[in-house]
Amino acid sequence: RAIVRDLTGVAEQSKRTKRTHLPCFSLSVTFPQFLCHIPSGHFGKVELCQYDPRGDGRGQLVAVKSLKPESRGQLWREIDTMRELYHHNIVKYRGVCSEDGGRTTKLIMEYLPAGSLKDYLPWRKHQTDLRRLLHYALQICQGMDYLGSQRFIHRDLAARNVLVENESTVKIGDFGLTKSMKEDKSYYTVREETDSPVFWYAPECLVDCKFYPASDVWSFGVTLYELLTYCETSSSPTTVFLEMLRPIQGQMNITQLVEVLMAGRRLPCPPHCPDAVRELGKYRSRISFPSPNPNLNH
Ligand code: ADP
Ligand code: MG
Repeated sequence: RAIVRDLTGVAEQSKRTKRTHLPCFSLSVTFPQFLCHIPSGHFGKVELCQYDPRGDGRGQLVAVKSLKPESRGQLWREIDTMRELYHHNIVKYRGVCSEDGGRTTKLIMEYLPAGSLKDYLPWRKHQTDLRRLLHYALQICQGMDYLGSQRFIHRDLAARNVLVENESTVKIGDFGLTKSMKEDKSYYTVREETDSPVFWYAPECLVDCKFYPASDVWSFGVTLYELLTYCETSSSPTTVFLEMLRPIQGQMNITQLVEVLMAGRRLPCPPHCPDAVRELGKYRSRISFPSPNPNLNH
């Protein structure tokens, strides 16, 4: 196996002065050493590795993500997105490596030791007060504000995709579904959809497959709900929406979900949620709904 730095990307990056400070790996024939698997998400496999080009044991820990071979294109899109981003609240890109003569590509990122908020919060309930939760929320907003300023729509903002560096810092990760808006557009239309995180999606995404920056604001609202419920599975968006929808024989279709949202039903206000935050939650809900698509049934 050999690491192959993507020289084209590096050259492009160094042309853009504001990004020359990116701490990427230098060209090397060494590759990150596998240490262990990290419990991973829906699409990818993530491994903890050590990048130690000098071999003196002082290398840095990195997270290395790979997708199934059939999703190679998607991983490249994720790599291309991460390369463009540099912000305190966004997981940092470190490089790419390929194996098996270029057949397998892997994305190398900084390693965030405490994993995702979804894994972290339920265990830290007693050490995490409201002030800290709102501080996490603020950091997510700052990362998302930056992402929007770069004309990206994340499309998968959720607690499972917010990673914890330490008890006071969180960063947005998983840019697998992220899309870049064309200069002349204010939204992105999805043509091919695989597994979508529907309970985090705004009505216009479900009805028209259109994603606006404001659609990410809706997902932020759902993520805020997750924060304030300490990411407990028993009150997760999936659990609560499925209870509302009562799927027949385990089958739920998007039309049912759209109907529930159109009827004005929402996730319940979490216990102990301060009034000021509750008012914020109402803000995005007031944005008008698109007209429902009668052919929608998937
Ligand atoms: P997927 O596209 O499969 O959802 P993610 O990028 O969300 O993959 O990663 C899945 C999980 O792997 C995350 O929820 C987190 O637990 C872990 N993970 C991902 N990236 C990192 C990282 N940079 N540092 C530590 N853990 C990570
Ligand atoms: Mg994910």
